[in-house]
This record gives sequence, structure tokens and C-alpha cells, in this order.
Amino acid sequence: MEATRELFWNIGRQGLLTYLIMGIAVLILAYSLYERVSLWRRGQAEDRWDRVGERIKGVVVNIIGHWRVLREAYPGFMHLLIFWGFLLLLIGAALDAFDHYSGLHFLKGTAYLTFSFFLDLAGLAVIVGLLLALWRRYVTRPRALDNRPEDLFVLLLLLALVVTGFLVEGARIAVQAPRAPWERWSFFGWALGTSLFPQGQGSLLWHKVFWWIHLSLSFLFVAVIVQSKLLHILTAILSTFFRNLKPQAIKPIEDMEEAETFGVNRVEELSWVDLMQLDACTRCGRCQENCPAYLTDKPLNPKMVIQGIREVFQEQSKGLLQRMRSWGVEEQQPSTEEGKALAGELIEEDAIWSCTTCGACIEQCPVFVEPFPKLIEIRRYLALMESRFPSEVQVAFRNMENNSNPWGIGMHTRADWAKELGIKTLAEDREVEYLFYVGCAGSFDDLNKKVAEAVAKLLEAAGVSFGILGVEEGCCGDSARRLGNEYLFQIIAQQNIETMKGYGVRKIVTMCPHCYNTLKNEYPQFGGDFEVYHYTELFSSLVAQGRLRPSKPLDIEVTYHDSCYLGRYNGLYEEPRGILRALLGVKLVEMPRSRSRSFCCGGGGGRFWMEEHLGTRINHARFEDVQRAGARMVVTSCPFCLTMMSDAIKEKGMEEKHEARDLAQVLREAVGV
Ligand code: SF4
Ligand code: SF4
Repeated sequence: MEATRELFWNIGRQGLLTYLIMGIAVLILAYSLYERVSLWRRGQAEDRWDRVGERIKGVVVNIIGHWRVLREAYPGFMHLLIFWGFLLLLIGAALDAFDHYSGLHFLKGTAYLTFSFFLDLAGLAVIVGLLLALWRRYVTRPRALDNRPEDLFVLLLLLALVVTGFLVEGARIAVQAPRAPWERWSFFGWALGTSLFPQGQGSLLWHKVFWWIHLSLSFLFVAVIVQSKLLHILTAILSTFFRNLKPQAIKPIEDMEEAETFGVNRVEELSWVDLMQLDACTRCGRCQENCPAYLTDKPLNPKMVIQGIREVFQEQSKGLLQRMRSWGVEEQQPSTEEGKALAGELIEEDAIWSCTTCGACIEQCPVFVEPFPKLIEIRRYLALMESRFPSEVQVAFRNMENNSNPWGIGMHTRADWAKELGIKTLAEDREVEYLFYVGCAGSFDDLNKKVAEAVAKLLEAAGVSFGILGVEEGCCGDSARRLGNEYLFQIIAQQNIETMKGYGVRKIVTMCPHCYNTLKNEYPQFGGDFEVYHYTELFSSLVAQGRLRPSKPLDIEVTYHDSCYLGRYNGLYEEPRGILRALLGVKLVEMPRSRSRSFCCGGGGGRFWMEEHLGTRINHARFEDVQRAGARMVVTSCPFCLTMMSDAIKEKGMEEKHEARDLAQVLREAVGV
């Protein structure tokens, strides 16, 4: 007898009922999906149709290849088994139907045996994956996971689906007497069949019973996709496709002068992408477990921000769905339901102001949900609509308005640090290759003035022609924007762009990653298109070219702290490390949380200007990483990070054992200028 099997064997003409039942399930799925999409479309417009090729590539790499999911070994491997197992089973079912209805009957002999073997392997992979998931969720119970009844329902439904599939196969194999030896290729079904029905008695009837149970479970699976967390099968693909390809830049408020409302305080003020992302969140908790605010006991938890907004969205959608179902009402009709306000009512204000905008939540999310930009939108609402912000923020805004720096130091002293160094301003000589955009910290903060001096000395030593704007330089506006004051940011940005264009600036080098990110990624939103470099980029190539020669041995063990805005935001991980490796006598050790998993210093997102009243201090937590790495010196390349790390060392009374320095200072010492 040739190796093969017949579709609907033992089921006969009733097999056609399968199509009827599955047809109903697919209709339920399609209608539920239509309702969901209608709800998303009630959000504000947002264009996410650019660079389609890159978007498709992201889906292939992250959905099919599980790139981000696999960043965490156990849950990643577990999900990979379930995903790929189910995908193969689905392909197998489709091939089976095609083989039968096309009349080609290619699934026989070796082709059938291979097919059958791989399908058993796929089913087994799903079972192993599901058992690993159950073990993790209910035995090891990591803090990242919160358990709800639907989690258990979904895991058990999937398990029952695959197990009944194997029972159908086992009963079919058991019916034959004697059993054909080639059936052993269906190894799992063979094992089940021979153990449950050693002599084959009753297996014909049981085959039918298992078949109908399996079919009913398949119906249930398809029908409840949208109503359960299985929805992420579809929304993960959408969320990955429509991901933000430029998360470094905050979305501008268009037409500030004419706009009547600013920011977001109600769910319906979110964009359709935001609403769709609410349905993509799988509650995996990776954002939570990488959030510096959450990990230092602040009231902010990015996962709960997303889930909280989703609950309001669900609640608000109920009335509309009822009307759609009963009267087929126009989905575009404005909603009359008003859910909870997001600012203060759903998310407490301390949580909103706790975010450092470090970007770890977006970076770690396997499905590209964006928690913190929603918090920025809420900050915009608080700052621009309600003038509600912590008192320190008010002071920082006033200082930026009056003196174009958050310290509030007289703007006429901005270039004082450079007076003794003979550095020219563009007003004195505009025929230079680079504008050295110093930023507020390098201009006004004593600790960081030394870094500005080091950058200038190294530029001179390498023979790079540069100038500064001096008193004409303004704050870049990063803090104002991230604290929600888009109005102030846009004024600052436009003034700076006008000044730079006035001098014909083309290339800019910055010492601050926040200035760097703002000038490089956000000024183009207002017509400021310049070639912007952070000094680590420029100096790493100058060292490689031999224009900077770090010949003095230093004899130190250092660890490098990745600034969020340089690393996670702009991918500059290797350049600073390359400089450190080029230094004689410098031993570089890595902290466990480094590169894209780096832990924020606590100074981003305007937090630098606020007191840290709640929980433990973020810079202290980061300093503990330095201590664990066993390095004497922590090297940074960001003024905020340098200050936060220096403060942590002082506050912990560790000045004898540790020190924080900027990379430019270390390089300057090695070059000897
Ligand atoms: S940006 Fe950073 S601090 Fe803000 S919510 Fe995300 S992980 Fe937390
Ligand atoms: S937002 Fe992303 S990382 Fe956070 S719980 Fe949801 S899916 Fe996980």
C-alpha cells in the first residue's frame, strides 16, 4: 500500500460541513475585524505609508524571523516554537486541501512521508512551546507578566487544538490492522495511537469523535481571535509594519498659531496608529522591566500606561459598537461617550512627569508599541492647555524664555568659557568647516565647560577649522520640547536655524547628544537641514586617520555609559568605544546593561531640571552598575550623564574610588593638548 492518506477519510460527505462551519467562523472573524478597524479609524490622521520596502522588511525580520522577540531567550524561543509550529501546521492543512481538490494527489510516497513527519514535528514544537509558556506564566511567574483568565483560556485552547489534532491522527493510524510500518513517520500520532488503542478497538468511532472536537476547537479559535489576546497575531504585523521609522524625532504640532487644542487628553485625540497599537500590546512587560522610572519605584509603568488607555478605549467603544450592531450607524459619526481624561484621571501626573524619554520602552517592545510619545502628548496638553507642570519646570521654561538656557544665567555670558582660548565666533570668521554648537551645559555649567574646552582643543589639534556662535547661540530646545512646551521649542528652533543659515552653516559638531539629536533629527522639521555630527563620530574618524594621536598611556580601567540620545536614539555605540580602544593603557569593561539595553542616567526628557522626590534615584541605580562592573572610571559623552554620574559618586561618598569623566577629556589627556 502506498504511503498516503485521504482527506475526510471516515468522515465522508459530512466533511463538507467543515467548510460551512469554518466559513461561519471566518465571517465572524471578518466582521469583528471590520468593527475593530472602524474603531481605529476614529483616531486622528497620521501618515505611516512612507518607505514601504523598509516596513515590509521589518515585518519579515521581526514577525517571521522573531528578531526582537528573541532578544529574551526563554520567552523568545517559546514564542518561536509556537509561531513556527502553527505556521507549518497551517501551511500543511492548506497543502492537504490543495492536494485533494486540485486532483494532483502529489502527497504520496516519499513526499507524503516527509510532509507527515514535518507536520508531527511542527505540532510537537507547538506543544513544547505552550508547556514552556504555561510553566513560565504559572510556575516561575516573572514580575513582567500579569495573569488574567484570558491568558489561560488562550493557552489551553491552543493546546487542546494541537492535542486533538494528534488524537485524530493516532486514532486513524490505530484503525489499520496490521499497521503499515511507514506510518511511523507520523511519529507522534503513531505513539499516541499505539498507546491509546493497542489493538485498534474502538478507534474508528474515536477518530470521528476527535475529528469533531478538533473542528469545533478550530471554529472557536478563528471566531475568538479579535475578542481575545489572539488578536495580536494580526495587530503585531500591523504594528510592526506601521512602526515609527524615525522615533528619534517628536512629532511637531503643525500650525501652532492657528491650532485650537494642543496635545492629548482624551483617547479620541490619539492617532489611528496609537489606537491600533493599544490592540497590539501583548502585556509582555518588557517595556516595564527596562523602564528606569518603574525600576526605581516611580509611579510610571509604560505597560500599564498602554493597558490603561486601552481600557478607556474599550469602555468608550462599547456604546458605539452597540449602535453599529443595532442600526448599522455610520462609523464616522462623532462619539458621544466621553471616557476618562488621560492626564491626572487615568494616569497620575507624577507618572507623566517621571518619564526620562530614554526610549527603552520602544526599543524593547517586540511589537513596536510607543508608550513614551503618548506621555509627551499628554505633557503637551498639561503644559499648553492647562499650564499644569511641576514648579521646577516653570522655572526652566522661564529661564529658557528669558536667557535661552534652562539655568537662567545671563545670555551675554554664553561665550565666556571660550574667551581665554582664542576661539573665534562665526561673526569674526565664517569661513570655517564646522560650527561647534556648544549647547547650554558646555557654555554655562562649570563641569561641562571643561568638556567644551577639551572638544575645542582636540579640534584644533586635528587641524579642523571651526567656530562658535558665541552669544548668538540659543538653547537647542530639547528640554522644552520634551517637557511639552512645543510653543517655546518652535520659537527657539526657528531662531537658531535662522542664525545658522545666516552664516551659511553646513556642518555642525556638537558635544551634547541632546543638541545632536535635536539639530540632526528635529530641526529638519522646520527647514534646518544641516550635516550634524556628535564629536564622538568626528574624533573616531580623526583618530583612525592619524590626525589625532593618543600617544600618552593612561593606565585606567573604565566602563562606558551609553547616553540614550547617542546610543538608542542614534545608534552611536561603536564610535565612542572605538576611541577608548585606541587609547594606550585603557582597559574597557562593559556593564551588563549597555548599548541598546543601557540604563538611563535619569537626566533626559527634562528630568534634569526637576527634583527626584519619588522612589530611589535613577543615577544611583546606574552608578551601582558601574560598581558591579568593577571599573574605577565611568566615561560618558553627554553633559547630563556626566553630571548625573558625578553627582551619584559624590552622594554615595565614593570620590576616592570612582570618578566620572567625559570621553573628550580622556582623549584630550591621551593626546596631550
Ligand atoms: S521612555 Fe524610558 S522612562 Fe519613559 S516610559 Fe519609556 S522606558 Fe520609561
Ligand atoms: S508595550 Fe510592548 S513591551 Fe510593553 S507590554 Fe506591550 S507589547 Fe510588551
